[in-house]
Amino acid sequence: MAIEITLLGTGSPIPDPLRAGPSTLVRAGGQTLLVDCGRGVLQRAAAVGVGPNALDALLLTHLHSDHIADLGDVIISRWVTTFTEQVPLPIIGPPGTAEVVSATLKAFGFDIGYRIAHHADLNEPPPLEVSEHVDGQVWNRGGVSITARPTDHRPVEPTIGFRVSFEGNSVVLAGDTVPCSGLDELARGADALVHTVIREDLVEQIPMQRLRDICDYHSSVQQAGATAQRAGVGTLVLTHYVPALVPGQEDQWRALAAEEFDGRIELGDDLLQVTVG
Ligand SMILES: [Zn+2]
Ligand SMILES: [Zn+2]
Repeated sequence: MAIEITLLGTGSPIPDPLRAGPSTLVRAGGQTLLVDCGRGVLQRAAAVGVGPNALDALLLTHLHSDHIADLGDVIISRWVTTFTEQVPLPIIGPPGTAEVVSATLKAFGFDIGYRIAHHADLNEPPPLEVSEHVDGQVWNRGGVSITARPTDHRPVEPTIGFRVSFEGNSVVLAGDTVPCSGLDELARGADALVHTVIREDLVEQIPMQRLRDICDYHSSVQQAGATAQRAGVGTLVLTHYVPALVPGQEDQWRALAAEEFDGRIELGDDLLQVTVG
């Protein structure tokens, strides 16, 4: 049976008029899973008819701001747009996730208080179920299984990637990482690998040392291609472009991935859907 990937945001920390922040929707077996919640995630989700109250779980690859920028929006908007019984939102991430979620609830404490005071049917703060993982199975419901493995985004750590499996098909969300054994194992034989990419050749032309610094802990397009090739992945989906993919440069990015990977390559744009199985 199919697993459907929808790229909700393919941008990076730098605001981009065409790309929301890093976020990917994965739908399988009637479940709707959100992986990371970058800037603008709920607007993009609305464009494919998914409201925050439809989410079965939120998965976080790491706690960099671009990946959690709209965490508060997801939590609060889900709470206020649920008109039936409030179902706790599972939030699955690396160690530190509970602290971030708790601080987010505190940041929205006034709002939560206003709404509880004003709406008779909102009596409790948003119900959440936070769990922290670095390795192993993190989800097993209704035939959908999710495994996490450590990735390598040092000095940011711990970071994790996810593999979502359903009825013989699998998709992998790498998050931000350099090539590493954890990702190789996670991606082995997957139908699709969604991978963050950076182009050092373009970054070097930008007079911003802070941007150059991040080349150390993101994969180049070629490295993403090589990971996909080693793992024997069916489709490589590029996302989280640094710097932003300028219209007209698509062939360059694709060619760089194709230097290492001979499978299908999808250049991610916001709202691109890739279905496997
Ligand atoms: Zn990051
Ligand atoms: Zn990032």
